[in-house]
Amino acid sequence: MNTPYFGTYEELVEQAGKFHGDICHGIRIGTRMTMSGLRRIGISDPKGEDRKKLMVFVEIDRCTTDAIMALTGCRPGKRTMKIRYYGKMAATFINLETSQAARVVIKGNRKPGESDSGEQPDFATLPEEELFSITKVEVALRPEDLPGKPLSRLPCVKCGETIMDGREVKSGEQILCIPCSLATDYYRVVG
Ligand SMILES: [Zn+2]
Ligand SMILES: [Zn+2]
Repeated sequence: MNTPYFGTYEELVEQAGKFHGDICHGIRIGTRMTMSGLRRIGISDPKGEDRKKLMVFVEIDRCTTDAIMALTGCRPGKRTMKIRYYGKMAATFINLETSQAARVVIKGNRKPGESDSGEQPDFATLPEEELFSITKVEVALRPEDLPGKPLSRLPCVKCGETIMDGREVKSGEQILCIPCSLATDYYRVVG
């Protein structure tokens, strides 16, 4: 709890807003989430001294993710940010050196059938216990998930495209890519 913040809320919101294009509600949420998450895992200098120790899983592809990206320096291209498309305002911050990990999820989740009240909490002033549920978690990372050179490259027997990073699926003796194994994809070939 004594790890100093790497900036004040105001400074960080400013930074995240610059990266995102404006200071919207998602940027405010993401800024506070990052401050809470990093503090729990003992990281105070994410883009300097601690930059090789940090990895983040985000559970949504929205403004909040931009704030986390701007403030942590974690990026998908650096393999330090993993995006899970769950549509949840949640993120897990991992200290790779100590294996400490904290999942931060926004409070005030909607009950089934409940509609949007339109009222937003003040992310600048409310204590974090009121804003978030924070849990200590464990994340099993494979060597293939870590930054560094690709550890595997295999062809899919069906489409022939190369699969990197251990993302192949085994079907009996056959190696398949994920879409071929599911027989579905996000696109359809036309023309
Ligand atoms: Zn936004
Ligand atoms: Zn394939």
